[in-house]
Amino acid sequence: MTDNKNFDIFDRQHLWHPYTSTIDPLPTYKVDSAEGCMIRLADGTELIDGMSSWWCAIHGYNHPALNKAATDQLAKMSHVMFGGLTHEPAIELGKLLLEMAPPSMNNIFYADSGSVAVEVALKMAVQASVSRSGSHKKTNFITIRRGYHGDTWNAMSVCDPVTGMHTAFGSALPVRHFVASPSCRFGAEWDPACFEEMEREMRAHADELAGVIVEPIVQGAGGMWFYHPQYLRELRRLCSELGIYLIFDEIATGFWRTGRCFAWEHAGAEPDIMCIGKGLTGGYLTMSAVLTTAAVARTISEGEAGVMMHGPTFMANPLACAIACESLRLLQGRDMSARVAHIERIIREELAPAAAFDSVADVRVLGTIGVVETKEPVDVGEFQKECVRRGVWIRPFGRNVYIMPPYVIDDDSLRYLCRQLVEMVKEY
Ligand SMILES: *Cc1c(COP(=O)(O)O)cnc(C)c1O
Repeated sequence: MTDNKNFDIFDRQHLWHPYTSTIDPLPTYKVDSAEGCMIRLADGTELIDGMSSWWCAIHGYNHPALNKAATDQLAKMSHVMFGGLTHEPAIELGKLLLEMAPPSMNNIFYADSGSVAVEVALKMAVQASVSRSGSHKKTNFITIRRGYHGDTWNAMSVCDPVTGMHTAFGSALPVRHFVASPSCRFGAEWDPACFEEMEREMRAHADELAGVIVEPIVQGAGGMWFYHPQYLRELRRLCSELGIYLIFDEIATGFWRTGRCFAWEHAGAEPDIMCIGKGLTGGYLTMSAVLTTAAVARTISEGEAGVMMHGPTFMANPLACAIACESLRLLQGRDMSARVAHIERIIREELAPAAAFDSVADVRVLGTIGVVETKEPVDVGEFQKECVRRGVWIRPFGRNVYIMPPYVIDDDSLRYLCRQLVEMVKEY
C-alpha cells in the first residue's frame, strides 16, 4: 500500500475524516490539484467531479476570476473583526444577496458554516418568538423526517432522528417534533393528505413552537428526496395563521442547484428566515449567511435582550466575502436558468436507463441533481475504488448514488460521469 502515492499513512493514523472510524477508516485518496471539473490525484489519476465537493464548487476548481478576487482582497486585508468595523466586501455581498433573495428578506447575519447558520436561524426564531409572545414557552421546533441541517448540537436535533443518529446522543439532545417527510413527490399531482400530519401537529403544539425548519423542495444529505412545492405553500399559510416562524434551510439548494436561484421560487412561498451556505463562496472558503425580514429583525431588537445574541470571531470575513461577491457576479453574468436546464436534460437522458435495473428502486433528477436510489445500501469503500478506476468522483450515501456536478462541466464529461454511475449501479 505504501508505494501507492494516493495513500498516506499519517493521514490514516492521525486525521479524522467525516463520519469515519479511527480503527477501520474508509480509504482516502490524496489530491494534488483540481481544475474546472477535474480532480487530480497524487499519482496523476484524473477524476471527473460529480460532487462539487458537497454542493460547494459550483464554478469548478481553481477558477481564474475567483482566484483573482481572493488575491486582490488578500493584498488589502484577509480579516478584521466585524464588531464596530465594517468593510466594502461585506456591504457589496449584502447588496448582491438581497437582489437574489426572496423579496421580503431585509437583514443579513454572516456566519462561519452551514451548521452555524442553522444555529443562528433557530436562535433568531426563539428570540423573535419570545419577544412577540412575551412568553418563554414558545421556543421549540417542528420539522420533517429525512432532513439534514448540519452537525452542531441544535442543527443535529432537527436532522432525521434515524440517519442523524439521535440515539447515539440520547437525552443530551433537545427533543423536537417530527412528522413524516412529504410523500408527494416533485412533479406529481398534489395530494392534500400529505400535509395532514404536519397540520395536526402544528395545531396541537402551536403554543410551544417558535418555528418550522425544512429544506425547501430538495431534502439533501438526509435522503435526497424531492417533494411537491404545494407543501411549502401549506406551511406558509399555517405558519402565518399560528404565529410560527418559517425557516428555509437553502444551504444545499441555493445558487441554482435545483433549477432556480433558490428553491423557494418553485413554490413562491417566502420564509421568515433563510439559511444559505455551501455554494456561497464558490467552494473556496467556509461562509454562510442567515437572511430574515425587517419584521423579525425588529421583533428581536424589541425583545428582552435588545440585540441578536450571536457574534462569531470570523463574522463577515473579508476574504470570504470578496470571493462570494465574485461568485455571485459570475452567476448573475450568465443565463443560469438555461445553463442548469441544459445540464438537467443531459442528466435525465443519461440516468434514465437505470430505472429499469433490478437493483434500482428509483431515479430522480431536478436541476443539476441526479439521484439513483438502489434497493440495497451501497458499500462506499468498494464503490469509490471502482469510481477511481473509472476516472470519476461520486460518493454515495446509504441507498442513494447521486451527482451534483460543477456548472462548468462540459457535455462529454457529464455524459461520461453519468454513464459510469449507471454501469456501476447495474452491478448492485
Ligand atoms: C451541508 C448542510 C448543512 C451544514 O453545513 P456545514 O457547512 O457542513 O456546517 C446544513 N443544512 C443543509 C441543508 C446542508 O446541506
